Amino acid sequence: MTTRKTRTNLVHGGTRRSQYGELSEAIYLTQGFVYPSAEAAEQRFLQAGEDEFIYARYGNPTVRMFEERAALLEGAEDAFATASGMAAVNGALMAMLKAGDHIVSARALFGSCLYIVEEILPRFGVEVTLVDGADLEQWRAAVRPDTRAVFFESMSNPTLELVDIAAVAEIARGVGASVVVDNVFSTPVYSDAIAQGADVVIYSATKHMDGQGRTLGGVILGTREFIRKTVEPYLKHTGGSMSPFTAWVLLKGLETLDLRVRAQTESAARIAAALEGHARLSRVIYPGAESHPQHALALRQIGAGGTMIAFEIDGGKEAAFRFLNALEVILISNNLGDAKSIATHPATTTHQRLSDEMKAHLGISEGLIRLSVGLEDASDLISDIEAALSAM
Ligand SMILES: *Cc1c(COP(=O)(O)O)cnc(C)c1O
Repeated sequence: MTTRKTRTNLVHGGTRRSQYGELSEAIYLTQGFVYPSAEAAEQRFLQAGEDEFIYARYGNPTVRMFEERAALLEGAEDAFATASGMAAVNGALMAMLKAGDHIVSARALFGSCLYIVEEILPRFGVEVTLVDGADLEQWRAAVRPDTRAVFFESMSNPTLELVDIAAVAEIARGVGASVVVDNVFSTPVYSDAIAQGADVVIYSATKHMDGQGRTLGGVILGTREFIRKTVEPYLKHTGGSMSPFTAWVLLKGLETLDLRVRAQTESAARIAAALEGHARLSRVIYPGAESHPQHALALRQIGAGGTMIAFEIDGGKEAAFRFLNALEVILISNNLGDAKSIATHPATTTHQRLSDEMKAHLGISEGLIRLSVGLEDASDLISDIEAALSAM
């Protein structure tokens, strides 16, 4: 199995067929399972086999198919599927941490991730040090002998700043800390995070894995030991498990994931190139462009520029809103990784709650637009952006 290539695994990996031999993965929309005898029930509660299930909060055949397929994609030993990306982030961190532990986290995080590290973990006695993720000196200065984990997004939202996974992993290993990476913006297609030193990789499956705006989902990837001994007990008892229907939607999403993400990346590169130097823009941020300060790291770490672009419109919020309202193909929303191209104004939506000081620190200006490039024809997207820029 593992010698097969990614595209093959994305179509066939983890498949389990019932006695009917269905072509497409079955949705086992069941919460419970029946046992042939009382003895069999006793035995299963004692030690469930690979294909034996007890209760859907613990596991379900459709969910298991998704977990195995996702693990093959990332090159992880095992996976646990969750109800959302946030259930995955919360589950991975809460499962491994206890009062008295210390973690170091990058500051540029998805809002809910920041809430977990700033508000929730300290309530349970976990000490958190925040650093600028791209500055290795800050990671070096922050880790301590009692640092249990480091946590970061490998590419930050919305300013597309990269954290060097291999370099931070080396610093973390020096103190025996686990490396936990929220890898959404790098996409599972381009990720090689485990090979680069990540111990735990988390995806919001809501993003590229579904990629069609239908469902929430998440997945935690890591060693079998970590997933089964640390993550599974926490999640199966606290209830953040994925529903079988969601797993089925995501299995279908994974079949086309590689094709979609590569096409979206190709379009993103074309759009970024077309926007570079535009008279109405003060800045275009795309890791695949040579103008990106971490272009070399982007090529080394993910080998591509990804599906996201950010750009700054001259004229602040007013100009940014006029631009958004003039778009005809690209939609105003806040999802990402979707087939539909989506433009977001982070300062007033996804990052609205941050203080002005924090926004300035993270480079989230009033003119900043985040663009998630979809599957439309790239030339239509470029025309749409250019028309909206000239309509301003
Ligand atoms: C969307 C997102 C999440 C949260 O995922 P949900 O599926 O919405 O819960 C976490 N981290 C990053 C980087 C995200 O983009």
